Amino acid sequence: MSMRHLLSIEDLDREQIERILARAASFAEVSGRPIKKVPTLRGRLVVNLFYEASTRTRSSFELAAKRLSADVLNFASSGSAVEKGESLKDTVTTLSSYRPDALVVRAPFAGAAALVAGWTPAAVVNAGDGKHEHPTQALLDVYTLTRRLGTLEGRSVWIVGDVLHSRVARSGVLALRRMGAEVTVCGPPTLIPRGIEALGCAVRHDLSDLGEAHVVYALRMQNERMSESFVPSLREYVAHYQINARRLSPRQLLMHPGPVNRGVELSSDVTDSPQALISEQVEAGVVVRMAVLFELLSGAAPEPSGAAAQARPATEPQLA
Ligand code: ASP
Repeated sequence: MSMRHLLSIEDLDREQIERILARAASFAEVSGRPIKKVPTLRGRLVVNLFYEASTRTRSSFELAAKRLSADVLNFASSGSAVEKGESLKDTVTTLSSYRPDALVVRAPFAGAAALVAGWTPAAVVNAGDGKHEHPTQALLDVYTLTRRLGTLEGRSVWIVGDVLHSRVARSGVLALRRMGAEVTVCGPPTLIPRGIEALGCAVRHDLSDLGEAHVVYALRMQNERMSESFVPSLREYVAHYQINARRLSPRQLLMHPGPVNRGVELSSDVTDSPQALISEQVEAGVVVRMAVLFELLSGAAPEPSGAAAQARPATEPQLA
């Protein structure tokens, strides 16, 4: 089944995930060459539309598009007419006039990318919508892990920390479960969303059985999404939930989506230890995002220009 947009991991079955991972592996070979570029998406336009801060996601989407020879337009809400009050819809309509083939969207509210998909004929990639989902993060995490472990079938992954505000956790649980991993989310009761078991994970409120995990995935405390206090104090949080050398065994793998709050969810020693896959995750971000852009855009006929194309409803499939 070909993909029109990538809005949520829920839209992907295991076969589609495996296809993206295999494609990413073939792009990893390209990234190892002195000339790291292929002509696959030459002449296509990818627009990065970022309404929230980003280091890794934005830079890796830009690099991914460039390595596929697409043109890239980076749009950040700060410094734009958004500051004059232009709405998301009007901004998308404006940028759609440039006839982008893909719009990569990050916005601070859940459902933003899905809304954008209704306003543009371009393929839309969700690069993080509030605390809802961050599907390319989950795909790069699964890619990183399968490279290390081979199959994820029956592997135990503990996701620890601020699960409540984490789109990474939501997409991660869904993708890891699809790939056959056993997932446990762990954190203080105030930071675990009620009913999260419905995604197929176990819930724990202490780290006493952390030793059973093959992989420990630490989450950042999402202070920017907290309007009230969810933990008595950071010191208290650190005392009970910080992943550090005392709690992590050297045979366990450690992951984190970045940016790391050193000294909060992770101690510096484990962050910099060889068991941490954090740099591998960042590296994987480029090839996995290349694979996603390829999946969405390759084989698609470029949009015809002119009034007829303008009049076409946004819901009509654009990709052949
Ligand atoms: N960079 C990830 C995100 O945008 C994780 C984080 O910010 O904590 O969701």
